[in-house]
Amino acid sequence: MFSSVPKFKTAFLKKLEMMFGTSFEESTSQEQFQTLGHMIREYVSADWIQTNELYRAGAKKQVYYLSIEFLLGRLLRHNLLNLGVEEVVCKGLRELGIELDQLEEIEADAGLGNGGLGRLAACFLDSLASLDLPGHGLGIRYKHGLFEQKIVDGYQVELPEQWLRHGHVWEVRKTDDAVEIPFWGEIETRMENGRLVFRHLNAEPIMAIPYDLPVIGYHTQTVNTLRLWNAEPARFPAHADIFKYKKETESVSEFLYPDDTHDEGKILRLKQQYFLVAASLKAIVKSFKKKNKSLLAFQDYVSIHINDTHPAIAVPELMRILMDDEGLGWDEAWRITVQTLSYTNHTTLAEALERWPLRIFQPLLPRIFMIIEEINERFCKEVWKQYPGDWDRVERMAVIAHGEVRMAPLAIVGSHSINGVAKLHTEILKNREMNLFYQFYPERFNNKTNGITHRRWLLKANPGLSGLITDAIGPDWIGEPHKLAELMRYNTDSVFLGKLHEIKQRNKERLAKTILDKTGIEIDTESIFDVQVKRLHAYKRQLLNVLHIMHLYNELKKDPDALLSPRTFIFGAKASPGYYFAKKVIKLINSVADKVNKDPATKDKLKVVFLENYRVSLAEEIFPAADISEQISTASKEASGTGNMKFMMNGALTLGTLDGANVEITERVGRENIFLFGLSAEEVLDYQNNGGYHSLEYYHHDARIREIVDQLVNGFFPDTDNHFNEVYDTLLGHNDQYFVLKDFASYAEAHLEVSRKYLDRGKWLRMSLVNIAQSGYFSSDRTVREYADDIWKVHSALKV
Ligand SMILES: *Cc1c(COP(=O)(O)O)cnc(C)c1O
Repeated sequence: MFSSVPKFKTAFLKKLEMMFGTSFEESTSQEQFQTLGHMIREYVSADWIQTNELYRAGAKKQVYYLSIEFLLGRLLRHNLLNLGVEEVVCKGLRELGIELDQLEEIEADAGLGNGGLGRLAACFLDSLASLDLPGHGLGIRYKHGLFEQKIVDGYQVELPEQWLRHGHVWEVRKTDDAVEIPFWGEIETRMENGRLVFRHLNAEPIMAIPYDLPVIGYHTQTVNTLRLWNAEPARFPAHADIFKYKKETESVSEFLYPDDTHDEGKILRLKQQYFLVAASLKAIVKSFKKKNKSLLAFQDYVSIHINDTHPAIAVPELMRILMDDEGLGWDEAWRITVQTLSYTNHTTLAEALERWPLRIFQPLLPRIFMIIEEINERFCKEVWKQYPGDWDRVERMAVIAHGEVRMAPLAIVGSHSINGVAKLHTEILKNREMNLFYQFYPERFNNKTNGITHRRWLLKANPGLSGLITDAIGPDWIGEPHKLAELMRYNTDSVFLGKLHEIKQRNKERLAKTILDKTGIEIDTESIFDVQVKRLHAYKRQLLNVLHIMHLYNELKKDPDALLSPRTFIFGAKASPGYYFAKKVIKLINSVADKVNKDPATKDKLKVVFLENYRVSLAEEIFPAADISEQISTASKEASGTGNMKFMMNGALTLGTLDGANVEITERVGRENIFLFGLSAEEVLDYQNNGGYHSLEYYHHDARIREIVDQLVNGFFPDTDNHFNEVYDTLLGHNDQYFVLKDFASYAEAHLEVSRKYLDRGKWLRMSLVNIAQSGYFSSDRTVREYADDIWKVHSALKV
């Protein structure tokens, strides 16, 4: 049906009529979109079935990636590209009078994630399938993904995201594969034929119904599966309030908890975690059993990865299955569990390390709790054996301590591999945050620097640039992204660089139009597009950026020629609903925008835009249009970052600290092709441990800082009544935990350097080209290949 334009058109019209009982002329865009989606699903179904057959029958090991988040975004264009039918479809639709670009907009973003962690999982799925690796995702089908953000009077307002309103064309409900997950109740322990058996009595069951999505690889027949679990009532208990039970049950897959650092609704969140893990492991074990292999060889056929600690309950749950359901003894079960599981750590922020109070954990998951207690006891004994008398060490490493279950220790003790997500981050884990565990299990720790799928973030998001690249070096880079390095030879080719400039300008014009449509703000496409888009968090320091903009404004008021090149600052960021400070920063950005954009003295040189509802589809439009990528986290706090990689791949220059993957970006492009500033990670950690930083001194000694900090509270923002008192307090009263004032001077200097460099267009374009050419390393193909080789030990299923 996609083999030629006429065939596609005929098939499309027929399918549309069949599905909706309507003529093409009468059909809505939504119906047209649904039609195309179903055609694609039908088209891949043979390959999907075949891939599944291959995996079922074959002796190849499978990897299952458990993640509480999958930030997929839209799938239509991506699927068309990977299938290699985009051109046929685009032409066919155009002949029918439909623009694919517009049809694409009909699809709601599947926003089942907060940010980087969830997007990483989505990028990995694309790379797994594109590399023909037998790897699958397992997650939760949240009815409402991450909230939809509106800005009202400068403040964030949250609305429930309605991405399922028209259904999700890509999914297939698999009722036959539903499983029951027990919560609450008691455990009955009995001796039976000389062994202890455990029975879960009076449990409240929740039904987990899988919805499967095909994960289509790039130009290959591999179609892997992303399985998302939906929570539904199991059987209605006769005694209970049926409506209450239904509501409670469904709430398990209703909302994505909008933060990884502050969790509200603790019980529900823990329920979600066990729901995901228990349902997934049941399905994994069931599929393993069809192979008729000995359970003792489970780890040779199955690898299970836990993305951050949210699915760390996989450790005791796999133990439970192997012992209680399958009858293995502890030692055998433990060996298999550890050899099967691997874990990625995503943060060193202490407040983000998950811990569950026993009073919540024990009653909700009684059998799992018993197993964790046993794991803890055995582990503590081992530590004690190696470090006799070292109580302090045992206490700090224990899985259960001070009335809490600690998920990171649980994941570490139960996995054969623990990885950080960038070199610096892994070193901090090994030498600081997880040093005791590193001493105990040095061989388990390793680094896997994050990556992004260049097929979505370059090929799809930036067709202009990918066309230019393919014209220059051929299409091989799409399958082998390291080949982007061949672009280095165009470094002095002014015709090529001219085209690069043209493409950036076109992307900027497109974004400018979107901004005008959405905000009414007109921006100068000749100005530097200086962009910070990411979750709003104190450590990411949007505050530093906005304070610096206030400083630029002050400068411009004093001297209209103060700014060498006009700037447009673009922000996108969601704040966790309960994160008061983050919401204040959003308000501050909007207040500054108001002031700056309206002032006739500055409005032609300085513009500030806050784009509401930052998400994958918006991101795809922003990255290709950026000149400057703001990656300004307090050094040591950003584990890796992946936004930095997307910007780089699209030719934006990084203005950043030596944090996370910025360090490796610098290694690849060289210091002359990046704008670095600020404290090093070493220095930050040193100040944190030993003190010695006093933000008040910076306030008193730097007149620029004094002016902007005072403006937070002195009526500078006319419409506001003391909105920014707390922001002022974090900087001065609480000694500026994230070193905003400390890094200010260095940041301002780096911005000056940006302005100077931008004046020399040739030089700027060469820097941009180096960034694009060196970005191949940050493809998730490289990352996933490393996971597959070093951790999962999985190989292509197509090769014999
Ligand atoms: C890539 C991405 C992120 C992660 O950005 P960081 O700058 O690495 O924090 C967050 N949200 C979306 C929508 C993304 O595409």
